[in-house]
Amino acid sequence: MNSPPHPDVIIIGAGLGGLCLAQGLRRAGVSVGVYERDRSATDRLQGYRIHIDTDGSRALHECLPPALWRALVATAGDPGTGFTFLTERLAELLAVDAALMTGGSADPADGHHAVSRITLRLLLMGGLDDALHFGKEFERYEHAADGRVTAHFADGTSVTGDVLVGADGVNSRVRRQYLPHAGRVATEGVGVGGKLTLDPHTRAWLPSRIAGGLNFVVAPEHALFTAIFARRATSQDAMRELDAEVRAAGLDPDLLLRGAEDVDYVLWAFITHRDTFGADAEALPAEALRERILAVTGGWHPDLRRVISDTDPATVSLFGFRSSVPVPPWPSGPVVLIGDAIHSMPPTGGIGGNTALRDAQHLSRALASVHRGERALPDAVREFEARMRDYAFAAVRHSMRNHDLAVTSGRLRRLGFRAFLRACALLPPMRRRAFGRNWSNPTASRSPEARARI
Ligand SMILES: Cc1cc2nc3c(=O)[nH]c(=O)nc-3n(C[C@H](O)[C@H](O)[C@H](O)COP(=O)(O)OP(=O)(O)OC[C@H]3O[C@@H](n4cnc5c(N)ncnc54)[C@H](O)[C@@H]3O)c2cc1C
Repeated sequence: MNSPPHPDVIIIGAGLGGLCLAQGLRRAGVSVGVYERDRSATDRLQGYRIHIDTDGSRALHECLPPALWRALVATAGDPGTGFTFLTERLAELLAVDAALMTGGSADPADGHHAVSRITLRLLLMGGLDDALHFGKEFERYEHAADGRVTAHFADGTSVTGDVLVGADGVNSRVRRQYLPHAGRVATEGVGVGGKLTLDPHTRAWLPSRIAGGLNFVVAPEHALFTAIFARRATSQDAMRELDAEVRAAGLDPDLLLRGAEDVDYVLWAFITHRDTFGADAEALPAEALRERILAVTGGWHPDLRRVISDTDPATVSLFGFRSSVPVPPWPSGPVVLIGDAIHSMPPTGGIGGNTALRDAQHLSRALASVHRGERALPDAVREFEARMRDYAFAAVRHSMRNHDLAVTSGRLRRLGFRAFLRACALLPPMRRRAFGRNWSNPTASRSPEARARI
């Protein structure tokens, strides 16, 4: 499909939300243009795995062409046997089965996937070709007299469409112009992440829990999250299997996975108060970050400390946390914000990206219904925004609760949380209630009817 010079929908930002939306709109026959400030599709070929939960899977399944969805599942990793809460001495507090997290469904579209960010971005770009415009740094927009919107870019060019979607991430310029009062605050927490390669040598000493699933270490001070990224198949094997299907969809298998990340590893993230690393935390080299973590975890199990000490410093980095502040409802119009641009949250819930994908799915449905002439644009946008504010700011609150538990809570609250986890381990109904299907997403526990309305 050729991208017209003036698409109906202009998307600023080729991140998770923007690309998923573009795919969904294309499937619905809506003309779309994605404008990204990076110079090329491969500018950002780096990063950690991302945990895709049931909401994210459903969004990707609905928006992506079937061949791309299958390629995503084939190249992703299985997040393992479930989610285990551990003490810093590696004693099990509670093990939440994978089946409890997914509601027992075997359909990958309801499942959880550990996806390489690199592979995900490449797959999300699959087939969009002429709709993708790189080197387009959005500067500002203006409303035209006919109700349309014009986006202006730093290179002096502009484009006009019916709708402008700001999917330009946490420092969104679209948000700054559209909702300048929508604030963001730096939290008191920081994370240090690293990747420990999974190979026969590390597998020989890694505790099976760490080598086999998702874990959260609830220590009297600080917290550690670990997750495995072990591919279901190498990208080459997956593509060989899907070759015919991918080609039949008009896509080039080699282009789809160029630069794909073909290693298995344990991702870890040490979460703590920013004072742990002092005022110059951002400037500390990776070795110093690692040493500091080892210094404050002296009483932890040696295997947990070894996960950190044996990690290649080249993979270790610190990231500060920021969180958006809920915004009261605003008048709906042809400018719409999705993803981190409107509801960024610390990664302590692992749901920021999943929420961006969920936005893409629902906005895509709303704009497709306008395209089919079923409803007026302002009504469709208003409804989308009302629902999005509901589930997305609930996700922000959930992530902040996890953040506070790991970063600012005192010993007593942590010990109380450990006691709660032990009680859940003993009492299945309590465990199901607290950790049932998609427990990381507070709005997912509604009735099916309520979910259908979101
Ligand atoms: C360490 C870490 C781990 C995480 N793990 C998870 C996880 O496991 N699961 C999960 O669900 N979430 C996770 N997240 C959160 C997730 O990464 C984000 O919520 C998600 O990327 C947001 O997607 P987005 O499309 O809104 O923004 P982004 O993915 O940030 O994309 C924004 C895009 O807009 C472009 N852009 C910005 N400004 C402009 C401009 N002026 N003009 C043109 N283009 C522009 C950027 O270059 C970028 O490509 C994690 C975050 C971090 C930091």
